[in-house]
Amino acid sequence: MNIDRFTVPTLTSAPTGTTNSYLVGDLLIDPAARTDILDAAAKRTAHAAVTHTHPDHVGALAEYADSHTVWALSGHEDRFEDATGIQPDETFSDGDTLRGITVLETPGHAPDHVAFCTESAAICGDLVMAENSVFVGGDGADMAAYLDSLERMCDLDFETLYPGHGDPITTPKERLDWLIEHRLERERRVLRAVEAGNQEVGTIRDAAYEKDLSGVEDLASLTVETHLEKLASEDAIEWDGEHASV
Ligand SMILES: [Zn+2]
Repeated sequence: MNIDRFTVPTLTSAPTGTTNSYLVGDLLIDPAARTDILDAAAKRTAHAAVTHTHPDHVGALAEYADSHTVWALSGHEDRFEDATGIQPDETFSDGDTLRGITVLETPGHAPDHVAFCTESAAICGDLVMAENSVFVGGDGADMAAYLDSLERMCDLDFETLYPGHGDPITTPKERLDWLIEHRLERERRVLRAVEAGNQEVGTIRDAAYEKDLSGVEDLASLTVETHLEKLASEDAIEWDGEHASV
């Protein structure tokens, strides 16, 4: 199945400053912002869907709604409407085939995150990027679910992953393995920081990140909180939303 990628400028926290919209067969995915090129691409399709409802993925969806059948993940219709301003025409669930494309639920980065899979490739939204790690924090983010989603995608062994930001990933297994290990290493650092007596997110963050966080302190803090929630759910630490301890 033919996959076309259209890079559009968006107000995204991703370092690219752009979001990838895709045309896969008859389905328009993540129409993030209108451009002449995306308008032309939209005319070649009758159906539209998003990998998840973060604002940098849905920006032009409402404007294409009249001319397209709009699909959303079943069970998340209210969130979809809040983010897009429109109600979906149809819903899909994990494993459904939509216009010849299989839906794979991949929650974690967002609770309503999905990937759209062909035989050899997946449009994977903000599950993974070629150039950077993915932000997993705030707004219903779930680190345990995110790691499960990375494992799930890894097992499917696609030839190419097409992310929501940046270039296609031509060595998916390698990239997903790196990302899983990156997240687990950060989790080990967060746990060690708590074991060392740090209780508050700011001090845990400073102990768990070796690099200069200027400008991204808030995102790093939210990421640390998501790790703390996972560790607490596994009874590795105590966490009341403000203070952590072992
Ligand atoms: Zn996102």
